[in-house]
Amino acid sequence: MSLNKTYHPETLSLRAGTETTEFGENSEAIFLNSSFKFKNSAQAAARFGGTEPGNIYSRFTNPTVTMFQNKLAALEGAEQCVATSSGMSAILACVMGLCNAGDHVVASRSVFGTTVQLFGNILKRWGLEVTFVSLTNPSEWQAAITPKTKLFFVETPSNPLTEVCDIKVLAGIAHEANAYLVVDNCFCTPAIQKPLDLGADIIIHSATKYIDGQGRCLGGAVLGSKTLMEPVYGFLRTAGVTMSAFNAWVFLKGLETLHIRMEAHSRKAFELATWLETQPQVARVYYPGLASHPQYALASQQQVSGGGIVSFEVKPKSNQTKQEAAWELIDATELISITANLGDAKSTITHPATTTHSRITAEARLEVGISDNLIRIAVGLEHVDDLKADLRF
Ligand SMILES: *Cc1c(COP(=O)(O)O)cnc(C)c1O
Repeated sequence: MSLNKTYHPETLSLRAGTETTEFGENSEAIFLNSSFKFKNSAQAAARFGGTEPGNIYSRFTNPTVTMFQNKLAALEGAEQCVATSSGMSAILACVMGLCNAGDHVVASRSVFGTTVQLFGNILKRWGLEVTFVSLTNPSEWQAAITPKTKLFFVETPSNPLTEVCDIKVLAGIAHEANAYLVVDNCFCTPAIQKPLDLGADIIIHSATKYIDGQGRCLGGAVLGSKTLMEPVYGFLRTAGVTMSAFNAWVFLKGLETLHIRMEAHSRKAFELATWLETQPQVARVYYPGLASHPQYALASQQQVSGGGIVSFEVKPKSNQTKQEAAWELIDATELISITANLGDAKSTITHPATTTHSRITAEARLEVGISDNLIRIAVGLEHVDDLKADLRF
């Protein structure tokens, strides 16, 4: 359904993008077929030639996936969305669509560990130049620019330390250099932060996280202007990093409750973070909604709320190393799931130094501030008192 009135975001979550078939279903249908029939050869030729819109083959487009794309595009305020098989393939499709060998990318050092591997290892082998800089220091971004710089790539807030960058400032620096600012908006979702409104050009999503919201399946998305998304879509339909129709349907259901879920995740995370700050066994808490957060003022402007991710450092007891202290607290939990995933309705707890960030060197970890006693909690939707009781200091 194309909505010709300006509805509130919560309403768009439920109503934007939805199409109904001749059967009048109220919840979106799942089209699990691979190909689509044509009335005759002329129609087939017109579809392939691009003179008649319509589906051809589900590697290219699929009605359920299209509904997901249109709904997410409406929520992010983007002209176009390209859905992908995972968050990582969204990043891959973005780079493959927009960059050539020899092009240069400036990326935040504080991005998802696999994103560091993709840029710094795999894409580098194919001739992409990458410079990693500090998320929060705009002068490093400025200094890293070369005549070949094509993309700036950030996550804000970052994982796991929830550092926040000024999207408007980085967009300004990127645009002056004729580069595009890409924001991985996985931690916030459009319910909390709208990067395109702040000047970013492209948004990446791992739909696997809060867009699903219940840890069921993998998916991703790239969003931006029609012009920028055309080559991204061109890569996708050729390389086949397509979202499955079933997963698109799960994400459509997830998006319907996005706003109430994100509001609840944020409220519970804020309550837990506030409580953690009062615990004698906690050395430091990282949460953008706390007044003690270094970029609290910026986060309050740029985000509706702090989001669901809280990290903290636990103080080792006299006979313990930092890692032992962290592992002891994590291993004593009975309720919170020990898993590296986030964005699930079930709270999850992670030791970044030995899991998500174990593939980077100890020095590099220290450089970005990930110490051995750091613990990350992706706060789910349980009662906060039960989460507090599960942390046995
Ligand atoms: C999980 C994650 C990704 C990768 O997404 P997948 O769906 O697991 O491929 C990318 N960026 C961020 C910030 C993530 O948390």
